[in-house]
Amino acid sequence: MTDMAASCTSCGECVRPCSFLQQQGTPLSIAQQGATDRNLLAAYGCSLCGLCDAVCPESLSPSGMLRAMRSEAADRGLVDLKAYAPWLNYEKMGASPFFRRDLIPPGCTIVFFPGCSLPGTRPDAVLELFKRLRLMEPAIGLVLDCCGKISHDLGLTDRFTALFGRLSQRLRHKGITRILTACPGCSKIMRNYGEGLDVTSAYEVLAAGTLPTPPASPLNVVTIHDPCPARFDPAQQTAVRQLVQSCGYQIEELPSHGTTTRCCGQGGMVEGCVPGTIKQETRLIAAEAAGRPVISSCASCSDSLTTATAAGHVVDLLINKTDFPAKPVSSARRWLNRLKLRFARIL
Ligand code: SF4
Ligand code: SF4
Repeated sequence: MTDMAASCTSCGECVRPCSFLQQQGTPLSIAQQGATDRNLLAAYGCSLCGLCDAVCPESLSPSGMLRAMRSEAADRGLVDLKAYAPWLNYEKMGASPFFRRDLIPPGCTIVFFPGCSLPGTRPDAVLELFKRLRLMEPAIGLVLDCCGKISHDLGLTDRFTALFGRLSQRLRHKGITRILTACPGCSKIMRNYGEGLDVTSAYEVLAAGTLPTPPASPLNVVTIHDPCPARFDPAQQTAVRQLVQSCGYQIEELPSHGTTTRCCGQGGMVEGCVPGTIKQETRLIAAEAAGRPVISSCASCSDSLTTATAAGHVVDLLINKTDFPAKPVSSARRWLNRLKLRFARIL
């Protein structure tokens, strides 16, 4: 807050695209209000999407300040965690032995880590991705677990540190040095906190392999929704586009893409304190898509966008699945899908 109070010029560049800042004022005015209980709690209305960081001419990080405010609010015991129980239970169950799995062959130093949402919504695609990655990295293993992003974003530092610390220590203990991720949220968490671990998006690895030549006439025109955790990850963004094109699709970019992509509404669990956020944000992205199917590399984004427009995941195209889901995958189905992967015969 001190840095923001000293450096923000209140130019308003970050306010223009952000409904949260339009209500709360510039990062300077938020910082000047100080660490009052009310001001700290207001940070839970920010999705931590990072769009403000991307557009700030002073290279400031309002999202970093707001994340720190969440942590302070949580440390002071100000947050009513009941509002976030669905997310916290989801994280707790996903990191439990019921759903965790390590398939690490002897001598393995590299694993595929698909995260939570992709296994919950597309278990068959996870197996197919793993199969393709094994063709390129024969000694690769598979780890099913949760990276703790929910606790991280809610500012629950101790809980996040325990969850992520246990995961990263286990991987290191088993000799893992490289992780291929399918979830942009996991990628960001692991890059920021997984000291000594080389983290690469699985899409980059797949795109670096031999891709089929796209047909002369594209099957369809699609748009790409870049997930906000991959906002500053041009390599991942490029790889996803290469994969989509290799499946025979023509891409028309959304006005908000790359570093200026919009949050799908799931970011920061804002829905827990501002119900209707997902509906509002997905409608904005659907309006930009103007009827063209929206493809994302984040299963949570794809699931949210399904409520507003035709939306799928890049892995849907990779497995030739073009009938995009008509509605989000139910909670019960997600757990069944994850159990299916937990006990699937794989290696
Ligand atoms: S992180 Fe996103 S929601 Fe939060 S202030 Fe920045 S642009 Fe707005
Ligand atoms: S864009 Fe940067 S300088 Fe301008 S109001 Fe936002 S944080 Fe302040």
